[in-house]
Amino acid sequence: MDMLMKKTKNIALVAHDNRKKDLLEWVKVNKEKLKLHNLFGTGTTSSMISKETGLDVYGYKSGPLGGDQQIGAKIAEGAIDFMIFFWDPMTSQPHDPDVKALLRISVLYDVPVAMNRSTADFMFTSEFIGK
Ligand code: PGA
Repeated sequence: MDMLMKKTKNIALVAHDNRKKDLLEWVKVNKEKLKLHNLFGTGTTSSMISKETGLDVYGYKSGPLGGDQQIGAKIAEGAIDFMIFFWDPMTSQPHDPDVKALLRISVLYDVPVAMNRSTADFMFTSEFIGK
């Protein structure tokens, strides 16, 4: 399922509550590079990032209210190139089926997904990010 990517990527940013701090730190470190791309996120994650960093992040609904499903739909449409999804490995989520669906659809459409900081670092320093 090849999809051509533009140089400017559409990047989805999602973090569960216990991982939001980690994602925010990662975003701050990578802010200048992230500015070059179009950013999207679930409700609370996107507003936190916009407020704390000044980055423009388009916000879908909050994850538990359907935001994960909205991002999954965008992936199915080919509108998301890259996802940083810091999910919580220690706490069960009320919207666990949605989380699973989002991960499933990202694998199906071959979207790169970083689920922790080290993977995000590897992916974001890849030569493919600027191609
Ligand atoms: P939130 O959703 O950004 O609205 O907290 C994240 C999630 O639970 O997927």
